[in-house]
Amino acid sequence: MATTGAKLAPPLMGQVFDGPTGFAGVEATPEWAQEVKRLARERNATILAHNYQLPEIQDVADHVGDSLALSRIAAEAPEDTIVFCGVHFMAETAKILSPAKTVLIPDQRAGCSLADSITADELRAWKAEHPNAMVVSYVNTTAEVKALTDICCTSSNAVDVVASIDPDREVLFLPDQFLGAHVKRVTGRANMHIWAGECHVHAGINGDELTEQARTHPDAELFVHPECGCATSALYLAGEGAFPADRVHILSTGGMIDAAKAAKSSQVLVATEVGMLHQLRKAAPGIDFQAVNDRASCKYMKMITPAALLRCLVEGRDEVYVDPETAALGRNSVQRMIAIGNPGGGE
Ligand code: SF4
Repeated sequence: MATTGAKLAPPLMGQVFDGPTGFAGVEATPEWAQEVKRLARERNATILAHNYQLPEIQDVADHVGDSLALSRIAAEAPEDTIVFCGVHFMAETAKILSPAKTVLIPDQRAGCSLADSITADELRAWKAEHPNAMVVSYVNTTAEVKALTDICCTSSNAVDVVASIDPDREVLFLPDQFLGAHVKRVTGRANMHIWAGECHVHAGINGDELTEQARTHPDAELFVHPECGCATSALYLAGEGAFPADRVHILSTGGMIDAAKAAKSSQVLVATEVGMLHQLRKAAPGIDFQAVNDRASCKYMKMITPAALLRCLVEGRDEVYVDPETAALGRNSVQRMIAIGNPGGGE
């Protein structure tokens, strides 16, 4: 089925159809890339791509990075339209930090199983059970949940954020149980309650697999990029001793690229979503980067296809809306986190 709005659109647009896993029908050819860039210029739009996007989407984007870093780039960009190639909560975060800009996501069905593991109503009910608690939310949350949050955190600063809270106050930590367990272990905090949320991708990175990888790759280093739910279990398991500690490097995306350029070993195992391998291989072509689990691929991230990006630029859809009151409250929780420092790059 051809989408609407193709009448005045370029010929490629006529090939786009909505398939079972998202928009399809267009290959990432040089003609497509040229058309994407032309349409972006015409709309005065900048294209941002998360590290877990398909390689062809990363290559056509103006900026590639983590969600928080991209949201900050969005806020500072001179363009008045942001095309956010990532999942929905990320585009919402960009909108929260840039309320005056038009924020588009190429397919609004690109969700996140971790962000969806707690709703605003569930959080309200949880808060009612612990009325004096401080709510700390990982950035993988919807705008509504951020609006009910006291302080956001990333995995780079989750320990600092929790440590900044009066030790006598209870903490409600959500939605990621692995990041929560890691923070609880490091801070030794007994009055911290953890929501039992998780990312479906991380299920592919478990302790046995990590231990086996350490045994079969005795010279390899392990890079863990914990800024996404898919790797927080690896962060937790590395802390439990599943991989020799001296070979484990917990790194943000920027840190990972720098470490790749400086790495001494010829093989590096990467515990994160497989999309990250594209940037690493580009940064250090001499190193053999291998995924700890090559099934660790986020189906939501991969919904941003060449066809979806083309449709987005032709039709100006899907636009991301956050009501101004929710945005203002959510902005406060993000800014409190930034005030504590070291937010890293976000998911
Ligand atoms: S990898 Fe997991 S946490 Fe990241 S966007 Fe996908 S579902 Fe969400």
